[in-house]
Amino acid sequence: RIAEVDGEVNAFLHVNTEEALAVATEVDTARAAGGAEAGRLHGLAGVPIAIKDLIVTIGQPTTAGSAMLRGWMSPYDATVIQKIRAAKMPMLGKTNLDEFAMGSSTEHSAYGPTRNPWDLDRIPGGSGGGSAAAVAAYEAPLALGTDTGGSIRQPAAVTGSVGVKPTYGGVSRYGAIAMASSLDQIGPVSRTVLDSALLHEVIGGHDPADSTSLTDPVGALAEAARTGNVAGMRIGVVRELQGEGYDAGVQQRFDESLELLRGAGAEIVEVSCPNFKYALGAYYLIMPSEASSNLAKFDGVRYGLRVLPEDAPLTIERVMGASRAAGFGDEVKRRIILGTYALSAGYYDAYYGSAQKVRTLVQRDFDAAFAQADVLISPTAPTTAFKLGEKLDDPLAMYLNDVATIPANLAGVPGISVPGGLAGGLPVGIQFLAPAREDARLYRAGAALE
Ligand code: GLN
Repeated sequence: RIAEVDGEVNAFLHVNTEEALAVATEVDTARAAGGAEAGRLHGLAGVPIAIKDLIVTIGQPTTAGSAMLRGWMSPYDATVIQKIRAAKMPMLGKTNLDEFAMGSSTEHSAYGPTRNPWDLDRIPGGSGGGSAAAVAAYEAPLALGTDTGGSIRQPAAVTGSVGVKPTYGGVSRYGAIAMASSLDQIGPVSRTVLDSALLHEVIGGHDPADSTSLTDPVGALAEAARTGNVAGMRIGVVRELQGEGYDAGVQQRFDESLELLRGAGAEIVEVSCPNFKYALGAYYLIMPSEASSNLAKFDGVRYGLRVLPEDAPLTIERVMGASRAAGFGDEVKRRIILGTYALSAGYYDAYYGSAQKVRTLVQRDFDAAFAQADVLISPTAPTTAFKLGEKLDDPLAMYLNDVATIPANLAGVPGISVPGGLAGGLPVGIQFLAPAREDARLYRAGAALE
């Protein structure tokens, strides 16, 4: 299937044919032999998976969608990759993304854009457009993404897939190339809610290699997905995350979803999160600030691309300058400059400090809302998939697409996007948010909409 469609879709940056076939054959052989060895196989053994190319893997290149890491091979596996290997899930390859996960359309990849399988002239969302497109185009039944401000949920929404951002600390970040460490989280992409729950159970749980990893056990997520029971569940409609600014078609599908949930016995309540209107602004200061620090290691010396200046002197600053000028794309440079500025002496309190205060206010809004509702609901994105190129020259328009997904990252709470029907022939995503450590509720609510 990859050979058949990926020339057009461009979901994959690397296809791991040989290793994937070897793992699949090993699983087949064990199953055929039966007995104790077959009994020890994980339920997802033999089920192939695609990996966002921000997650490091032994034996396959990791590029982060950047020319800076073209051809770079990690000497170690991310914790989630170790778990996928232990479950004997064949890895199909590495999927395309906006460079260093910065973007909402996968157009900022150094390796060309990924296209939305629903309409090849449209974006598959971002930054994890490759993972979502691979699932939507039937190239992979499961994929891994990373979500710093919506990069799992928004691509899932615009490709008609399911995508989950787990509770911050619920899945190890060890081996996910850091974008904004206090916001990043790895999570599943799939066709069904149950599939995401099963994968979440494989990748979740405590990891001593990640200092922000929670010690909680991962929980009975698949069981929650199997019940899909929302009878008596209080579902809070976030007043600030719908209505004005949302496409009429998106709003229509959203209103129908509320009716479906009401019909299934849920109690729909309205909640207000007044500080969410500042969340986007705070995110676009905190995220670049952390990214400017995290990306400092790409200096032309330690990793990947090294460009030597043509003339003397060959100082370390000039090697760094030439390497970064050639290795980073415009969006990455824009954010490094913005983040460096926001963190600089004299501006720190006004920008970074204020943004951190907004972050606290957003967390308090969530606390108040979750006192009134078990889960919150909103459209995942204000629009369906837009046209390739439509927002490429207007960074602010691109950033505005993240308005509904960003609050969850600022507060560390989990979120899911599930398909909510079509508008104008294109998929609409419905987002549920739950309190931290209550990821199971997302699977219960999400399954009710399937
Ligand atoms: N679109 C958001 C951004 O550009 C989200 C990125 C992400 O979640 N990795 O920052």
